[in-house]
Amino acid sequence: MKTSYPGRVLAVDLSTRSVSKEALPPSWIADFLGGRGVGARTLWENVPPHADPLGEDNVLILAPGVLTGTSAPCSGRTTLLAKGPATGHYLKSSVGGHLGISLKLAGVDLLVIRGCADRPVSLVLDGGDGRIVPADTEWGMTVRETTASLRSRYGEDAEVTCIGPAGERLVRFAAVMTSVYNAAARGGIGAVMGSKRLKAIVVPPARGSVDVADAPAFRAAVQKARDALYNDTVAKDLHRFGTARDVDLLNELHLLPTRNFQHSTMEGDAYALSGRSWAELGLLKRIVGCGGCIYCCHRFTRVPSGPFAGVSSGGPEYETVAAFGSGCGITKIEPVLAANSLCNDLGLDTISTGSVIQWAMESVQRGVLPDERRDGLDISFGNEQAMLELVRRIGYREGLGDLLAEGVARAADVIGAGSQAWAMQARGLEQSNVETRGSLGYALAFAVNPRGPDHLHTECLAEFGGTKEGIDLIERITGDRRLAVPSKEEARGVIVRWHEDMYAVSDALGLCAFATTAAYSLTESLISHLYAAATGRSPTDLELMRAGRRIETLERCFSLREGLLPERDDRLPDRIMSEIAPDLDRGEPVSDRKLKRLLDQYYHLHAWDLHTGRPLASTLSALDLSFAEGVCTPGDDR
Ligand code: SF4
Repeated sequence: MKTSYPGRVLAVDLSTRSVSKEALPPSWIADFLGGRGVGARTLWENVPPHADPLGEDNVLILAPGVLTGTSAPCSGRTTLLAKGPATGHYLKSSVGGHLGISLKLAGVDLLVIRGCADRPVSLVLDGGDGRIVPADTEWGMTVRETTASLRSRYGEDAEVTCIGPAGERLVRFAAVMTSVYNAAARGGIGAVMGSKRLKAIVVPPARGSVDVADAPAFRAAVQKARDALYNDTVAKDLHRFGTARDVDLLNELHLLPTRNFQHSTMEGDAYALSGRSWAELGLLKRIVGCGGCIYCCHRFTRVPSGPFAGVSSGGPEYETVAAFGSGCGITKIEPVLAANSLCNDLGLDTISTGSVIQWAMESVQRGVLPDERRDGLDISFGNEQAMLELVRRIGYREGLGDLLAEGVARAADVIGAGSQAWAMQARGLEQSNVETRGSLGYALAFAVNPRGPDHLHTECLAEFGGTKEGIDLIERITGDRRLAVPSKEEARGVIVRWHEDMYAVSDALGLCAFATTAAYSLTESLISHLYAAATGRSPTDLELMRAGRRIETLERCFSLREGLLPERDDRLPDRIMSEIAPDLDRGEPVSDRKLKRLLDQYYHLHAWDLHTGRPLASTLSALDLSFAEGVCTPGDDR
């Protein structure tokens, strides 16, 4: 029978320079769907316990979704997976652009890259085969230069996925970039690629299409999904103004992280940082989208005049604006665009880069960063030139940049002097720019996220009650629409768990989380119709969501196997747990006691041990995950 996900694996060993075709076990596809799910199962099987994330034993996996390459709307996402260099735990990072579609058209459902090359190489995929070719020419180049160089050789339409100088230098928050401006950014997946001396993966243009099991039923399911997405409340604004549309609104709500989360409102004109103003300011050049998307939330911006004239890049997203704007005490948009462009070219995660710079700025503010560490720079909040120079130095690991390139947790441990207190990280990952003291669903989601305190594993937008779809969802999963209030503790476990399940299903199928866990118009039922018509399998809505839970439970098991200690690691940054921003007019620190209450809800719903936070053997058995039961609390089943 035809299917959109036959399970074709291309396995590459860079140490032995061998490439082979393999097939996924059918039971993995049945249990873990595809994309992130099958990627997590492959990671579990292929990475030996306690492997060095930057060593030969780590495995880099590229996993397009089950629906990627079909006409299903917003289905062009790909998950990259590895053991993470920032945390030492499970890492997945999602990316859009055209990578996933290119892989599927090239006949690859899962790309598994093992070993390390002895000199720089690129991988060229052609017709389902792979060739390892020298990359001495591109090694050292920026992302734009690399893409141009490889496109001149393999065709202007070739899909190039690569690292920049930051990945080559193993910066712990280096990104893998694709389609020039799209980043698999968080957790240091680019450093894993750099450690393998793999500069790029090139997929020359391919024709053809991705099969589906039942074409008429699939067309009907696609039409229903499109209708739902076109009609939802979020779509139009997301398309017109991008993810940074509401910076000024967040500022008014006192929810805009500012100066390293010391404040929750910024001085100056937040509207200038907001995506709503960019067309007026002549900065917005194009609205763009990932392959297969009907929302198209990405921007392409260029500065028309002034000291930053000519700076251009894809983005910036909200997170980047907060990281380099309010977070660094910078109130003009042009330097933010310059920092975004530099990060994209060097291959850096903008969230972590902004966070380590903010930490350095606060360390200077508090007088604990010694002069000899400052590279002669005036590292003060609001100094745009110092910020941009630090971005460059991090990417090339020069001077202070070499220390910051290790991430804020390690940098704070080196500098000491109490600077851990304002290192906005947990588990080794810098927190994304959500004011978790004012939104307890997010706080819980961030505390248990396997890759650290970050929004792109479990978005919980519904708890803000900002849209009809979000409020309806809260009513459907909790029974009470009045719980769509982010400061409430009640029902946060239910809200987080639903979003986790849905996010995992979305990543497994290649669906963008904006369509499923931000807009909420792509429901479980619409998704299972798409899945059934594409694959010929017919899980119920409940079974599909259960596959999501199986995926995230296995991810938890992977991290536990690699040393996660829930009592130490299911936490938020110290500042979030002990301080309140003076201008945060709602909320309070997420204290140990409050977090414990939230975690109790969550562990209970997952049927995990309430004291240890580990899945019980019976829980794993019920999810067909008994192969992972070595991570359970011994002798403590119920
Ligand atoms: S909504 Fe944005 S991130 Fe999602 S697929 Fe579309 S363009 Fe990409």
